[in-house]
Amino acid sequence: ETATPFLSVNNIEVVYDHVILVLKGVSLDVPRGGIVALLGANGAGKTTTLKAVSNLLHSERGEVTKGSILFDSVEVQSLSPNELVRRGCIQVMEGRRCFAHLTVEENLLTGAFTRVDGKSAIAEDLERVYGYFPRLRERRGSTAGYTSGGEQQMCAIGRALMSRPKMILLDEPSMGLAPQIVEEIFEIVKDLNVRENVTFLLAEQNTNMALKYARHGYILENGRVVMDGEARALAANEDVKEFYLGIA
Ligand code: ATP
Repeated sequence: ETATPFLSVNNIEVVYDHVILVLKGVSLDVPRGGIVALLGANGAGKTTTLKAVSNLLHSERGEVTKGSILFDSVEVQSLSPNELVRRGCIQVMEGRRCFAHLTVEENLLTGAFTRVDGKSAIAEDLERVYGYFPRLRERRGSTAGYTSGGEQQMCAIGRALMSRPKMILLDEPSMGLAPQIVEEIFEIVKDLNVRENVTFLLAEQNTNMALKYARHGYILENGRVVMDGEARALAANEDVKEFYLGIA
């Protein structure tokens, strides 16, 4: 665990529209093969942090104005979002960005867009995704927009898997889903982590669930990390319980 972090965010500031300071010096590390939770209330800056890492802020008129972000020892800001995907870092957006009018399988295939290897490798990976998500296999021919919320979230993660990622930035996978479905999705995250060594940075408002699956957590408040530690220690911390778990 003393090795160079796979992802290292160092004291970044992010500004929207040139004037709105949203991240005020955020630092965090994600070890290779880790699951790290980024926690905090709505508006704390979780999505902004993930978008800074995947270099997607420009389209939101956002900019990293200070600090550095290293993924696999390369400065992220020198790479395009597509180059980052090719290097193994991909974001799954909040709100399950599936193409509603495409079938589940067509959605998954669009995830292979950065791949240069052949069709058989892509077909193999499709099988691999269906192995993790049997529900997606059942729904492969269905129009994505007509599948359930949980299936759409699975489809979004499956689509990301088609790029053969080493690291997934997962933005609020639990949003709007029933607890049982959330657990099903988190179990698959754990499987991917254990069996394929996929590293996860997981932004969640569902602190309880996230801390069950993550090994380490960071708590963001108003654009700053106010606490971090081992997931088990955070889950047992009285302040965390009071403010984020609702069980004082
Ligand atoms: P959420 O649960 O809503 O995703 P979050 O913790 O991910 O919350 P962010 O979405 O990163 O928080 O938002 C952090 C702050 O930045 C909020 O105050 C939000 O209003 C502001 N913000 C987000 N996007 C923009 C934008 N494009 N322009 C201006 N301000 C923005």
